[in-house]
Amino acid sequence: MPQGIGWRKPVGKSKAAYQLRSAAAVWHRPGLHRSPAPAILVTLQQRMLHYIWWHINANSRPQIMTQETKSFQAEVSRLLDIVAHSLYSEKEIFLRELISNASDACDRLRYAALTDPSLAEGDTNYRVVLTPDKKTRTLTVADNGIGMNREELIENLGTIARSGTAAFVSQLSGDSRKDMSLIGQFGVGFYSAFMVADQVEVLARKAGESEGWRWASDGKGEFTIEPCPQATRGAAIVVHLREGEDEYLDPARLRRIVNTYSDHIGLPIVLKDGGKEETINTASALWTRPRSEITPEQYKEFYHHVGHSFDDPWLTLHNKAEGVLEYTNLLFVPSTKPFDLFDPERKSRVKLYVRRVFITDEGTDLLPAYLRFLRGVVDSEDLPLNISREMLQSNPMVARIRQQLTRRVLTELGKKATEASDEYAKFWDNFGAVLKEGLYEDRDQREALLGLIRFRSTARDGLVSLDEYVERMRPGQEAIYTITGDNLDIVKRSPQLEGFRARGVEVLLLTDPIDEFWVPAIGIYKEKPFKSATRGGADLDKITPPEEQPQEQPAPPAKLASLIAIFKLALGDAVKDVRSSDRLTDSAVCLVADEGDLDMHFERLLKQHRQIDTTVKRILELNPRHKLIERLAATVGEGGASDQISEFAWLLLDQARIVEGEQLPDPPAFARRLAQLLERGLPQAA
Ligand code: ADP
Ligand code: MG
Repeated sequence: MPQGIGWRKPVGKSKAAYQLRSAAAVWHRPGLHRSPAPAILVTLQQRMLHYIWWHINANSRPQIMTQETKSFQAEVSRLLDIVAHSLYSEKEIFLRELISNASDACDRLRYAALTDPSLAEGDTNYRVVLTPDKKTRTLTVADNGIGMNREELIENLGTIARSGTAAFVSQLSGDSRKDMSLIGQFGVGFYSAFMVADQVEVLARKAGESEGWRWASDGKGEFTIEPCPQATRGAAIVVHLREGEDEYLDPARLRRIVNTYSDHIGLPIVLKDGGKEETINTASALWTRPRSEITPEQYKEFYHHVGHSFDDPWLTLHNKAEGVLEYTNLLFVPSTKPFDLFDPERKSRVKLYVRRVFITDEGTDLLPAYLRFLRGVVDSEDLPLNISREMLQSNPMVARIRQQLTRRVLTELGKKATEASDEYAKFWDNFGAVLKEGLYEDRDQREALLGLIRFRSTARDGLVSLDEYVERMRPGQEAIYTITGDNLDIVKRSPQLEGFRARGVEVLLLTDPIDEFWVPAIGIYKEKPFKSATRGGADLDKITPPEEQPQEQPAPPAKLASLIAIFKLALGDAVKDVRSSDRLTDSAVCLVADEGDLDMHFERLLKQHRQIDTTVKRILELNPRHKLIERLAATVGEGGASDQISEFAWLLLDQARIVEGEQLPDPPAFARRLAQLLERGLPQAA
């Protein structure tokens, strides 16, 4: 086959050019002319011929059989390299992937033909045909779906379009074992064909277009694309099997694979064996079958297909709603976190079908954004078939389905939370942060959602619900105490928690950025207000400590008030106030926000996102029972003590800032003070 641009036996328009070339050849045949034509005439004739020749050529240029060679996007090459060298044991899944794509393509044409029936060209008998050919050692997976044109072949099969996917691929380590297990969870779709193929051809024609195209590649960095007049509507993937992969030519083997992975596909999968054609799947959409007839394996395979997922479903919800609204839902909660969960578009990926016809999987509004981790289908009996994607957004029937589905999902989550708390903990770690968005977005479901949220806390290692927290509150405790931060381990060790621990008061540890938003939106749970442990007066003295704690605290040092006065004078505007605290047991000092001021962690978060650029002044709290504070207080009144206490005040303030994770406004000053102090602590050099 010629490479690059070249002539083959001309077809179509260029037939004229072919005839002309023959004519030119005849003209020059010796002995044809009685007398040799004068040289000038011959030249002229040749020029004319050349001119016409060139023009016909130009006119037929779009029809020229050109083959172009293109490179895969770097990420695709990387992926293909891993796929080709993988020792993946389940190579057979390539067939599942190709059938899944074929089925999607048929779904898409069926939908497009609703508004433009001419697209179907009279052939609405959608199906997937598998043709093994022992002579050519190829397996062809052909569909009569929407097909692809030249641009789509280049785009869809040469680049990775899905958001986040390219980023995912660039994270692959290059260690094929590890990468393959990652890919196993993630899927390589079309490219999986290269696990068994040394060459893959795609012959495709897009519905409604006249030109067919051939895409081909050996999966080594490049692919070719050229016109292919014989391509029929849809796409035929021709898999040229590698040495040793002949099992995929065996009809019995193909039957078994389809049975395992693709039986849920709603259209016929036909096996062409010699002259015979036979449908080898059940060929009814899985969700239309009774639950009792569906195996967990079948649910799982359907989930893989519909969700483009590769893990096990954590929860499967298959229901048929009858009555005013009639629809079937088959929804899955994944067991792993999809990589695009925090995509700013926050779209649901649940597919909408109307009476078995796929309508769309984009922005259907079938589920609220805070349930966007769900995968699956909803098939409505009532919506009009010709509903446009735009109309869906304002459709009252869709709104009611959404309400019912939301309730159903939350009820099922609630059951899991109470009946299988360990399993629920896994769900919570994956999707809890997303579910919390509902707390301020969906007032109707607030109560249900408050029952579903879980927390890490200072009281134990596992997860805690709000009800459990309220039940464990200490006598005299009136608020639900929380502390926010970026990192669980660091938050846990915050000095502000010391006094709470000493009094046996549990504090909820909040580490999702979203916590800064829903907590103030909710404000109160069962008449108990949420209160930050790092803000205001913590009212700790009103809370009865547990029995074993000594009731009588030692009296604060005598000159504490004077010490605080010197601190205030030294620090001036750098703090809002300096005061003695019940909040501390082990640390000497800590920073807290004044009642009503911005929480410190929230302030940092807003600064990171450039929402504010001012700094709210904080209160420095001193631990009156800490040795350092006691001894500092004791020095008050001695000669030169004020200067020394001032230096200590600055050092302690900076120390509190560091513990908070805040930037020091003047790091060199801190370093200088610390060095001086260290020097004073050493014996004098002789
Ligand atoms: P995914 O199916 O997850 O989108 P794939 O790698 O399986 O990813 O396929 C990439 C894209 O190629 C598909 O999204 C689709 O646009 C296109 N495609 C693949 N197979 C076909 C087909 N048989 N007919 C039409 N388009 C196809
Ligand atoms: Mg696919």
